[in-house]
Amino acid sequence: MTSRSRFADLTDLDAVRVYALPMRNRFRGVQVRRGVLLRGPSGWGEFCPFEDYADEQAVPWLATALEACTGSWPDPVRGSIPVNCTVPAVDPGTAARIAADSGCRTAKVKVAEPGQDPGRDVERVAAVRDALGPGGAIRVDANGAWDTGTAVARIRELDRAAGGLEYVEQPCPSVDELAAVRKQVEVRIAADESIRRAEDPLRVAVAGAADVAVIKASPLGGVRRALQVAEASGLPCVVSSAVESSVGLAAQLALAAALPELPFACGLGTIALLDGDVVPDPLLPAGGEIAVPQRAPDPDPARVAAATPTAEVQRWWLDRLGRVHALLTG
Ligand SMILES: [Mg+2]
Repeated sequence: MTSRSRFADLTDLDAVRVYALPMRNRFRGVQVRRGVLLRGPSGWGEFCPFEDYADEQAVPWLATALEACTGSWPDPVRGSIPVNCTVPAVDPGTAARIAADSGCRTAKVKVAEPGQDPGRDVERVAAVRDALGPGGAIRVDANGAWDTGTAVARIRELDRAAGGLEYVEQPCPSVDELAAVRKQVEVRIAADESIRRAEDPLRVAVAGAADVAVIKASPLGGVRRALQVAEASGLPCVVSSAVESSVGLAAQLALAAALPELPFACGLGTIALLDGDVVPDPLLPAGGEIAVPQRAPDPDPARVAAATPTAEVQRWWLDRLGRVHALLTG
């Protein structure tokens, strides 16, 4: 990790602030997003691995935060990032309204919701096509819910309903299943969980399992490291957020800005999922795009104070930060 030698001691940081921001809707079973804001010589970074992650899993997230506050990001090759809107497993009318109101030209539609009839997916995708018109792009995300046979049948159905899907994200859980489905359908396959959870993210490309890689800087150990993984994969990449505050989101935008090619809209329009932010000017999309900041925006002390959790929650995060830092530098 680039930060290993540069950052031997956490007491070298100028500021360490634990925050907690409520989510507007439950996401990954999470109702409050929490993390730590760190200020170092080059500005602010954010350490926010999900709370159910083991310390080892959180190590690359700390490397990402330290890269932001003590290191630097690669030079951007574009000044704004097109983003998609996200349509949850809602009724067709609501789906159409979310897509139309977003201002985005690309919609990601959630499908394969447990307990929901597959016909609802078809109606939802058709409604989003009506809302976006023929020029919009529709991708679906099954979060690994299907077996290969189901995936092939559903993808064909949804492709017809959409009048052409841009891609289908993680139709099945395993890399081998993705590869099998990919041989049988015309629609592009995107790997998301397979990249994020893989010990070797490049196995997806080697196995011929996907046409597109969904990547995030944090689980890959920083913007520079993620850029290397993206280039080594040889796949077109879509950058998605981990629903950070604007401080952490800036790193994901820096990654999207530095990729040599960016053929698809990114999943970075996620600030609106939080009820509040720690910066005065949140990194929200306008007209379906987010302007790339030069560095992470500075948190506003009043907002940070308002978002400070109980002493017990602060202690939990500071203990975790110390343990993960010991793993990173040990
Ligand atoms: Mg996904």
